[in-house]
Amino acid sequence: MTDRRRFIKTLGGLAAGSALIKPTEIFASSSDSRKTSVSKGDRFILEWENFTGELKYTFAISSSARNTTPIVLTRLHWGGLVGYGEASLPPYLGETQASVNEFLKKVQTNVLSKFNDPFRIEEILSEVDAIAINNTAAKAAVDIALHDLVGKIMGQPWWKIWGFRAEDTPCTSYTIGWDASDDIVKEKTHEASWSKVLKVKLGRGDYEDRRMIRIIRENNPGTPIYIDANQGWKDKVYALDFIHWLKEQGITMIEQPMNKYDLDSHAWLTERSPLPIIADESCQRLVDIPKLKGAFHGINIKLMKCTGMREAREMVSLANALDLRLMIGCMTETSVAVSAAAQLAPKMEWADLDGNILLSNDCFTGMKLTEGKITLNDLPGIGVKPL
Ligand code: MG
Repeated sequence: MTDRRRFIKTLGGLAAGSALIKPTEIFASSSDSRKTSVSKGDRFILEWENFTGELKYTFAISSSARNTTPIVLTRLHWGGLVGYGEASLPPYLGETQASVNEFLKKVQTNVLSKFNDPFRIEEILSEVDAIAINNTAAKAAVDIALHDLVGKIMGQPWWKIWGFRAEDTPCTSYTIGWDASDDIVKEKTHEASWSKVLKVKLGRGDYEDRRMIRIIRENNPGTPIYIDANQGWKDKVYALDFIHWLKEQGITMIEQPMNKYDLDSHAWLTERSPLPIIADESCQRLVDIPKLKGAFHGINIKLMKCTGMREAREMVSLANALDLRLMIGCMTETSVAVSAAAQLAPKMEWADLDGNILLSNDCFTGMKLTEGKITLNDLPGIGVKPL
């Protein structure tokens, strides 16, 4: 399937017992809104659809620019319920819709066919992780769908299952991407006036970086700004000097100033910086965290980097234990992946969960923003519904 309308229509068909994938035995009890026990006949069926996320603006970082993001949406059927998941695939991550499709076939054939109990999350996702070394977004597409499903079985959202308080969520930042046109940067700044925090992508050289900040500050003097250099600054002495200048402009946090492998330079910078320095590209998965202690003040967790909600929750605990500060981020992605990440938001000091509002064709509704603050709902699982 390639058409989203057909995807959603199919969903309606499945709920009503459509014969598209012959779900007779699986959906015998599909009228139940909640299922509390595993019966012998229950088995998993994983479906997926390629989807193109259309960006409202050209998305430019220090190394690339694009107008769309390839996405794969997943549905995990079990016991008359469906869990939604997503893989968002910005090109620099190295995954494609084709690689995700191939991976998901292996998940269905090699892993899900062996299980009939969704609560065996640890075993299922460990086996999914073992299929291949990388493919982290494909793994996240399974992880998110399984969490959504289990939350629906339990009738509770994940933020509540984990014991978090919904009111503890931070405000999200909203990203203003680089643009060559002063007028477009000005327009983007005015469009972002609702947001309590802005995020600006820098790392295009001193002139361009200062130009972006100058235009934004001329049009919005007061809103705090996070900077994401995306590894774009090449020299630690320059970076420190520039960070001092940025602090005077009301910038409050710096993400990934230099090359992700150069932990020594980051440690030097972190020791001296007047603003917190956060690892993004340097922090992919749980295993990366111990070596980042001392090199950064904190880490940016993203589900597409770390294989999903299960590992992200573990990263929160490890970061807490190591006294590393926490941020949650996202790719340009639909409300499925953003709402899954938002379940962790109560544990975060900073959040950059604007991926869904950077899309012009989001096909789900889920986590909302209330004057910029992440607002979790009480819907079970990850709290999303197809539009
Ligand atoms: Mg970043």
